[in-house]
Amino acid sequence: MLSPSLEDYLEEIYRFSQNNSIVRVSDIAACLNVTLPSVNNAIRKLSEKHYLIYKKYRELVLTEKGSKVGRFLVDRNRILQDFLKTVNSQCDVRAEAEAMEHYLSLPTIRAIENLLDFLELNPKCREEFLQHCRYRKEKGLGLKDGYAD
Ligand code: MN
Repeated sequence: MLSPSLEDYLEEIYRFSQNNSIVRVSDIAACLNVTLPSVNNAIRKLSEKHYLIYKKYRELVLTEKGSKVGRFLVDRNRILQDFLKTVNSQCDVRAEAEAMEHYLSLPTIRAIENLLDFLELNPKCREEFLQHCRYRKEKGLGLKDGYAD
């Protein structure tokens, strides 16, 4: 298992490699909006753990293990983003999924995946659910923010 931070690097490297033939350290620094030293540090750790190979001209190539885990991380993130959109959460979907992905267990993510699949196969259920959300909003039901004034 990787730390949340290393997972995010590997996730982004895999995502980038799906859309670009060459992945460089500078590309990843730009995608994640972090400094080059932080990326270099993470890349070194990922290469020590055999997730990727550091080639000349600062090019990164994922190993079989790195691609397998990278694909898993990208899929996991997509499921959580789909979930937040499907339940119509008024959050920053990308940021929230980025945080949730490291803390939810695989059984929970699979349960969410089942729910999403069910709702996709039964669009009427999703419509009724969204209607119910509107009803609750109109009635002012739901968790009250204890920190709000
Ligand atoms: Mn993340």
